[in-house]
Amino acid sequence: MFRTFITAAMATTFISTAVQADEVNVYSYRQPELIKPLFDAFTEKTGIDVNIAFLKKGLVEKLVSEGDRSPADLVVTVDISRLSAVVDAGVTQSVNSNIINANIPADFRDPEGHWFGLTSRARVIYASKDRVADGEVTTYEDLASDKWKGRICTRAGTNAYNLALTSSVIAHHGEEAAKTWLKGVKGNLARKPSGNDRAQIKAIWAGECDISIGNTYYMKKLLANEDQKVWADSVRIVFPKFENGGTHVNLSGVTLTKAAPNKENAIKLMEFLTGEAAQEIYAETNGEYPLRPGSNASELVSSWGELVPDEIPLTDIAKLRPTSLRLTEEVAFDE
Ligand code: FE
Repeated sequence: MFRTFITAAMATTFISTAVQADEVNVYSYRQPELIKPLFDAFTEKTGIDVNIAFLKKGLVEKLVSEGDRSPADLVVTVDISRLSAVVDAGVTQSVNSNIINANIPADFRDPEGHWFGLTSRARVIYASKDRVADGEVTTYEDLASDKWKGRICTRAGTNAYNLALTSSVIAHHGEEAAKTWLKGVKGNLARKPSGNDRAQIKAIWAGECDISIGNTYYMKKLLANEDQKVWADSVRIVFPKFENGGTHVNLSGVTLTKAAPNKENAIKLMEFLTGEAAQEIYAETNGEYPLRPGSNASELVSSWGELVPDEIPLTDIAKLRPTSLRLTEEVAFDE
């Protein structure tokens, strides 16, 4: 069973009528269609229902204002900074599970047990098959080079995915060099940043630009969409590296709320999401990279090339977010 609860009023009703129920309540920044197959598999295996409230924004504020009365057990979201923000707001609790710790490598979970990665994704370059030669772009640094003048498309610099990428640039090269890089990339844009990652690939297809920055799994989403498959067919994925590192990756993850009314069931769901069956769904259905050792990326995802993840710790990336946002605004990246 899979239900969606949306409003605060509904959520409150929900608590008062569901005292002993076998269920877990999830607040999600992730689209319901992305996580529904995972929760359905969990319910089928355990008989525990999963209720999901999809939020576009304000998730942290909602948890803080609900306090001890929050119906939410888990938060699922993308982006290390968003996960960290939930933890930093003091609305999570620590989980120590041998199952989760065995399934998720230490680099992808909080040493204190307040957040856990579930999947990773690389922030890569989509390059026009017709107008960009093999080997023409290989590094993030190169995106600031003059040869790309008027040829790059990207979503807003202040978007969470791009802020994390810029945080990586800061971590590798320092603040000044990162600002110069941002100015260089901005100077190369074919158009003002707008739209999501998919819209940039469409723009390559339409001839507006030659390369774009985007997350890996969007290729799978485009290929699965009858109208958008032509956009995907016009590009190939390039895994850029930092000159002194690897490819920037980010994650999707989960935290247990401090108020969790269904704590035991919630931990069962967390454990399930890190396990073999769920990690395979993430890989095959969503086109994400599983984190569990022994679980592999799908054949399609593997066909795009070898991912060598950058080694800057994700917690460092999260800490650099304010600096990243400031630099992005200083260079007026989105204007
Ligand atoms: Fe996304």
